[in-house]
Amino acid sequence: MSTPVLPEPEPLRALIDALRRLPSVGERTARRMAYHLLQHDLSGAVVLGQALDRATQSLQHCEQCNSFSETVLCSLCDNAQRDKSLLCIVETPADQNTVESSHGYQGLYYVLMGRLAPIEGIGPNELQFDRLLQRASGAEVEEIILATNFTAEGETTAHYLAELLRQRGKRVTRLARGVPAGSELEYVDASTMAWALQERRET
Ligand SMILES: [Zn+2]
Repeated sequence: MSTPVLPEPEPLRALIDALRRLPSVGERTARRMAYHLLQHDLSGAVVLGQALDRATQSLQHCEQCNSFSETVLCSLCDNAQRDKSLLCIVETPADQNTVESSHGYQGLYYVLMGRLAPIEGIGPNELQFDRLLQRASGAEVEEIILATNFTAEGETTAHYLAELLRQRGKRVTRLARGVPAGSELEYVDASTMAWALQERRET
């Protein structure tokens, strides 16, 4: 952390430190964001603060899919029109959004809220795989589609889960590689995702 030349009021320091918690935001960027909000967009800063307060207090993890929800069961899991025989496993709500945007999928989801990353200490326990396995073992689930990212960690997670799920007698498929290796699904366009779903294959 660079030592500021000017004495810094504590609330300003606290704001900069808070912004630094965001991914890819270092000291300089956090400082620029803080100055921007305080100098040019004070009302935006208030809205941001209130939105953070509201989100942290009112959101929980859906009992069934683990995604964010205001209610015990999210609206998607609660939708009787969805095909309960299909369960698509994604890393994040952003990835879930990409799959959904393809309009090629009518099943349900399970959101891992991460991926296996042993170096960072994220293993099966941290991702609550027991909860996922319980969900996936339900009699109504016929096929599980692994839609983790095509990154090294996403592939490792997919391989690991495929093994566990096959042992439970489930049909396990993986998205087709319509995107270059190393890609994150969040940035894949809807038509590529639709193709990857349609062309999914047994793992
Ligand atoms: Zn849900």
